Amino acid sequence: MIGAGHAGLAASHFLGDRSIDHVVLERGEVANSWRRERWDSLRLLTPNWQCRVPGLRYEGPDPDGYLTMGEVTEFIERFAKVSGAPVQTGANVTSVRRTDDGYHVTTSRGEIRCRTVVIASGACNKPAVPRFRDGLPESVEQLTPFGYRDPAQLPDGGVLIVGASATGVQLAAELQRSGRPVTLSVGEHVRLPRTYRGRDVLWWMDSSGVWDQRLDEIDDLTRARRLPSPQLVGTPERTTLDLNALTAMGVELVGRWAAVRDGRALFSGGLRNVFSLADLKMERLLDTFDEWARTHGHDAEVGPPERFPPTRVPVSTRLQLDLGSGDIRAIVWATGFRPDYAWLDVPVVDAKGHLRHEGGVVGSPGLYALGLPVLRRRRSTFMCGIEDDAREVIDHLARHLAVRRRP
Ligand SMILES: Cc1cc2nc3c(=O)[nH]c(=O)nc-3n(C[C@H](O)[C@H](O)[C@H](O)COP(=O)(O)OP(=O)(O)OC[C@H]3O[C@@H](n4cnc5c(N)ncnc54)[C@H](O)[C@@H]3O)c2cc1C
Repeated sequence: MIGAGHAGLAASHFLGDRSIDHVVLERGEVANSWRRERWDSLRLLTPNWQCRVPGLRYEGPDPDGYLTMGEVTEFIERFAKVSGAPVQTGANVTSVRRTDDGYHVTTSRGEIRCRTVVIASGACNKPAVPRFRDGLPESVEQLTPFGYRDPAQLPDGGVLIVGASATGVQLAAELQRSGRPVTLSVGEHVRLPRTYRGRDVLWWMDSSGVWDQRLDEIDDLTRARRLPSPQLVGTPERTTLDLNALTAMGVELVGRWAAVRDGRALFSGGLRNVFSLADLKMERLLDTFDEWARTHGHDAEVGPPERFPPTRVPVSTRLQLDLGSGDIRAIVWATGFRPDYAWLDVPVVDAKGHLRHEGGVVGSPGLYALGLPVLRRRRSTFMCGIEDDAREVIDHLARHLAVRRRP
């Protein structure tokens, strides 16, 4: 097992159930990503009642709240203890090679030979940043969410945040509140209200079965796997953090950052279309929820159907920004994350750096993956999605071992 996040620990739980001898190799500590790669104010965007992994669920006093990073780390540490996972910390995997009867794994703590490998090293190992970042004026500080901790780190003055998914909208709000004028570059995004008809929007995703859609029920799987994270934030007040909320705070919206010319950032026009598409998709999803509530007899338990004002299009939108003018002192790249398989010496990674797999079964016998977006169902990447995925992937792994053992 590579990785002691919740995915690796869940796989370990099911391997333990079947008495399959294994080790969980972790380059840092248990829950390393949550300890080292997130900013200070971040809370989960999934409510506490959705914090559930095999054999452990949130049982604290605030089921509708959202865990802080310290609390998530504690939760995953507890999971490791409760499940008795055989974790080896400080073991960085630097190579995985195929052998006649399995794999040869090289780590910073030694070599291991094994019949199977489960890759649970995470989907968000590196920030994905456009190449043109290299051609920007040196006077502008550049950060990614991995390096960002709190607003005090940034120089005073304007900030350009690139990307309006969960990370981008959360950092835009935090930096604008810190007194820095924020410009937010917006491309394709997923708009969601925090609550709908009085319930958390993720309650609707969960209860209506939308999150349980399996691979074979999803029309365009490649697209589903690349979908940006929804514009959601976990706050005690359960506030909605969409583009209208940011505009009301004074954040300036511009189009997708398309290119750099002569030290100027060039933004796409057509914000109106981008907004309409996100609004339309949100409406369709709310229609699905309404239909589910009506046909499954839940109308009486929840509030009346709601519809939200369309995303307001700015009266005039800036199409370029002179990065040398001093107006922008820092750029935060909230342009997504990608996995890192530099250590994987098996030809199973595609040209875009993604693992080729079918429901976590990688195209090399005995090699498996967990914790990737829409691995087996829509909820796969979230903590509440790991139990079913891990059980099914470990079932496959056990069958693989059983077949190999037969004479
Ligand atoms: C900003 C952000 C917010 C998120 N918010 C939520 C949320 O609200 N709710 C939710 O359910 N999910 C959320 N997620 C998604 C998801 O839960 C996380 O990505 C989660 O960390 C995935 O779990 P994992 O176990 O697959 O990977 P990780 O938690 O990333 O664990 C992978 C582990 O593998 C280790 N590792 C990596 N490479 C190696 C190597 N070569 N050798 C040894 N060890 C290695 C890492 O150190 C790490 O500990 C969020 C993700 C991000 C990035």
